[in-house]
Amino acid sequence: MPATLFDKVWQAHTVRILPNGQHQLFVGLHLIHEVTTPQAFDMLRARGLRVAMPERTIGTVDHIVPTRDQRRPFIDVMAEDMLSALERNCREHGIRLLNLDSGHQGIVHVIGPELGLTQPGMTIACGDSHTSTHGAFGAVAFGIGTSQVRDVLASQCLAMDPVKVRRISVTGRLGRGVYAKDVILEIIRRLGVKGGAGFAYEYGGDTIDRMSMDERMTICNMSIEGGARVGYVNPDETTLAYMRGRQFAPQGDAFERATEWWRSVASDRDASYDDVVEIAAGEIQPTVTWGINPGQSVAVDERLPSNADAEALAFMGFAAGQPVKGTRIDVAFVGSCTNARLSDLQEAARIIRGHRVAPHVKALVVPGSQAVREAAEREGLDRVFLDAGFEWRGAGCSMCLAMNPDRLEGREICASSSNRNFKGRQGSPTGRTLLMSPAMVAAAAIAGEVVDVREFVGAEVLVGR
Ligand code: SF4
Repeated sequence: MPATLFDKVWQAHTVRILPNGQHQLFVGLHLIHEVTTPQAFDMLRARGLRVAMPERTIGTVDHIVPTRDQRRPFIDVMAEDMLSALERNCREHGIRLLNLDSGHQGIVHVIGPELGLTQPGMTIACGDSHTSTHGAFGAVAFGIGTSQVRDVLASQCLAMDPVKVRRISVTGRLGRGVYAKDVILEIIRRLGVKGGAGFAYEYGGDTIDRMSMDERMTICNMSIEGGARVGYVNPDETTLAYMRGRQFAPQGDAFERATEWWRSVASDRDASYDDVVEIAAGEIQPTVTWGINPGQSVAVDERLPSNADAEALAFMGFAAGQPVKGTRIDVAFVGSCTNARLSDLQEAARIIRGHRVAPHVKALVVPGSQAVREAAEREGLDRVFLDAGFEWRGAGCSMCLAMNPDRLEGREICASSSNRNFKGRQGSPTGRTLLMSPAMVAAAAIAGEVVDVREFVGAEVLVGR
């Protein structure tokens, strides 16, 4: 029977069907971080249990780490306590921790792929909603809550309901200055922030096929913002080329053997789907959110909808029908697991080279991992950003959710390459977030307001693939 990748991977990892109809699913890789684990380990301890498979569990630190001064102990006592607890728990249970001094620290969804921990055909769980990022490799990857983190620690399994599969096919050439971020914002705008509930999203079509792994990760990362807990791209030659030589990927003959399995999990050509959506790449424009969820967006040269949600307008201080272009910003943030990989930084640097950040704008670049930061420095990108007036920080989640010192203040407006524009997301209860691509953030930082990156003077804008 022809099958989708989702069905193949799901079936291969189903241990048994439970009496309540749920599937007991084996988890191939469990990524843990400092925020959603302390309670889970306490629950384990209270029951006298050990971690079932420490070798399939990897500890990461990202949400609470300061990005300006990462020396220990952290000034924030709560952050220090959280990291100390994770260190203790990892030590006690024999779990590898990619700590600040490891050279591999970074945002969990950046370092998993970067190190080759994330592999096609795997099931991957992490106590973070944006775990769908790893689906870019053809893994079935999803975010879980704290009690599920406990379950995976104790049994390496989860009780889950299978979901339906929606194929989202993007075809044709992307226009100049249109990026993967614009593609996923457009998908969420069309299908709604709850449109993916009960579905896994399979992204395909020649536009996605031409994308790099970094771009595919950006797309899969925001699946959850469209309501889909799982988003994936079928593994192909681009995937295999990325995997080759990664530290935790199989090496030598083992790699060749693994590629057979990886190729086999891709959806069959004649697989059937529960739903199919087709999107023409040529219709997608550089996109900016204007509201309080990632589905509330417009093309940068459009006006806000005449029937725009009243609560969102009131919070943002916008009026229905006004242009988004020209909105004055206070902060520009290039970072997060959506857009803080090397290619994102390269693209932002192309825009700002030779320019200066507007005097009223605070601008920061936060690489997704120590490896990204080092690679960027080898190319001299840090100098490009610093010369333009950006701050160049250490790796972490930073202002994506502000569980660390990087936060908006008061009613500040932030042009952000992150993934959520919920009320209060960036640290100030009244702070406002405009989501956009890193190139658009860079252009906004220089102009001091939202601009169309395609018209930005001197900008070398990527020609769509
Ligand atoms: S960068 Fe943001 S979305 Fe990604 S893991 Fe960190 S807090 Fe979560």
